[in-house]
Amino acid sequence: MNGHLEAEEQQDQRPEQELTWSWGHRPRSALDRVKAMAPPPPLPLTPSTPLLHGEFGSYPARGPRFALTLTPQALHIQRLRPSDSAAYFCIYTYPRGRRGGRRRAARTFRADGAATYEENRAEAQRWATALTCLLRGLPLPGDGEITPDLLPRPPRLLLLVNPFGGRGLAWQWCKNHVLPMISEAGLSFNLIQTERHNHARELVQGLSLSEWDGIVTVSGDGLLYEVLNGLLERPDWEEAVKTPVGILPCGSGNALAGAVNQHGGFEPALGIDLLLNCSLLLCRGGSHPLDLLSVTLASGSRCFSFLSVAWGFVSDVDIQSERFRALGSARFTLGTVLGLATLHTYRGRLSYLPATVEPASPAPAHGLPRAKSELTLAPGPAPPVAHSPLHRSVSDLPLPLPQPALTSPGSPEPLPILSLNGGGPELAGDWGGAGDAPLSPDPLLPSPPGSPKAAQLSPITEGASEMPASSGLPPPTPDARVAISAGGPPDHLLPPLGAPLPPGWVTMEGDFVLILAISPSHLGADLVAAPHARFDDGLVHLCWVRGGISRAALLRLFLAMERGSHFSLGCPQLGYAAARAFRLEPLTPRGVLTVDGEQVEYGPLQAQVHPGLGTLLTGPSGCPGREP
Ligand code: ADP
Ligand code: MG
Repeated sequence: MNGHLEAEEQQDQRPEQELTWSWGHRPRSALDRVKAMAPPPPLPLTPSTPLLHGEFGSYPARGPRFALTLTPQALHIQRLRPSDSAAYFCIYTYPRGRRGGRRRAARTFRADGAATYEENRAEAQRWATALTCLLRGLPLPGDGEITPDLLPRPPRLLLLVNPFGGRGLAWQWCKNHVLPMISEAGLSFNLIQTERHNHARELVQGLSLSEWDGIVTVSGDGLLYEVLNGLLERPDWEEAVKTPVGILPCGSGNALAGAVNQHGGFEPALGIDLLLNCSLLLCRGGSHPLDLLSVTLASGSRCFSFLSVAWGFVSDVDIQSERFRALGSARFTLGTVLGLATLHTYRGRLSYLPATVEPASPAPAHGLPRAKSELTLAPGPAPPVAHSPLHRSVSDLPLPLPQPALTSPGSPEPLPILSLNGGGPELAGDWGGAGDAPLSPDPLLPSPPGSPKAAQLSPITEGASEMPASSGLPPPTPDARVAISAGGPPDHLLPPLGAPLPPGWVTMEGDFVLILAISPSHLGADLVAAPHARFDDGLVHLCWVRGGISRAALLRLFLAMERGSHFSLGCPQLGYAAARAFRLEPLTPRGVLTVDGEQVEYGPLQAQVHPGLGTLLTGPSGCPGREP
């Protein structure tokens, strides 16, 4: 009998269990004997009249409690729900392991100091709220009550995932690493997998932007390029481009994520470590103005760049290594080695408006842009809200995720609240709209931050002639992959392409191995091309390498760039200028030009910085050295 009872209890997992033993015309049990010995009742008993009722613990003592009801016919055994008045909260952390990689660790705490569930729940809520406020940089009242009302509604993110990003792992990484973290952090999200090139660009044009606190791309730099250009193509581009955008690195080129990682105070990282770092920063909230570069191409079309304009070695490697996409970021390493083997120089002219010069004579450009701005400044109607394209291509995930709720008594499911990264609570921006940390512009660095005098390298000019027709590079096709923005602010620093430049510009002509114009610090996740660059320094950082450099010296430059120390090598061919605008005129008839890693039409181009035009989700500014 006992064995049967236990089996029944194990099968039944309901919080309240009932088990009835009935007896009638069966062999007499001990209970029957008890009944038989009792004095006859004054009134006739119905079979269901309770004779006895009581609550009992079990033995050994840690077992459940039971309510027993004895009737003439049966013994009812009811397992009682534990009378647990505790509440719970959970802290998710991503500490670094011994090998440096992060691992998720969850700890659930049980608030059980008070007698009632309500009190314990309030205590758990206080802790969860206070921790969340500190992590997101939200103000806590000095002496007031800490209640969940202090938290604004959960931030809503639109995640755009390119399933082919990087080695095709973007979706898997997103599912396994990103989604758990952001839902545990209490952010809500909607996720769309892109279906084709320029899909993201079209999507953001039809979005009702007020519904989102951020648009986050989960891919390489290319997908964010689409998003920013899509925003600037909207009739309401001025508002639209302020939408905070974020990047979670799952591509082969993850330059901006490298810069975000550094800005967050983390050690340089690659792969999943970089992804986890950037996801942690995203969860903590905080944004930064982002400089955008408007690039006018030979055809007169314009696109917006957050990263780089490259010509020569950098763009050759970028485009040539496309075929090694399966290698992920290693494609650039292999591409660099191959590029060194077939090193070319290119003749060209680089002109720039130095950062130290106040933009003096913008007159030539004013006429055209004014007309344009009058056109675009008209408060155009917001894009249609009801016809959001989301429903068409929404992923199979629930949207948005249900928000975590406090647990109820007796069902001790943890309360998902937040992600910690082990850093201290010195926070800047926030997810709650309380504004960003004050910006502290760094001193401008108009000259290379290193002395070019130190080293004397022997320039070996093997193969450093002007680029031959048989370079092995793809022919300079007008590029079909990069569509062009029509909206956006006027370029008041630039005369029309082809017209003479205003006074104050510097021009140099010669043979170059590469010319690189970079906005943030990083050219790749592990390539710090402009170590002193900031997201909103209002500068474009021009770096060039003149012809005559040896392959060994060029390799040394790129190796040193991993730590951002290439300017201190003293390489005489390496040049640098901080600028607000530039013009690049290739004189070699064939070559590759890229904007943010995407090939564009080959020919003269010019560009100007639009300081802080965009908004980048960076997380709080870092406190280097604080990480465990
Ligand atoms: P990676 O760093 O791996 O190159 P990117 O984010 O730069 O990753 O994306 C590479 C290119 O893939 C971009 O030009 C983007 O427009 C394009 N793309 C985005 N979604 C898709 C898709 N579903 N199929 C094919 N190409 C896509
Ligand atoms: Mg800049």
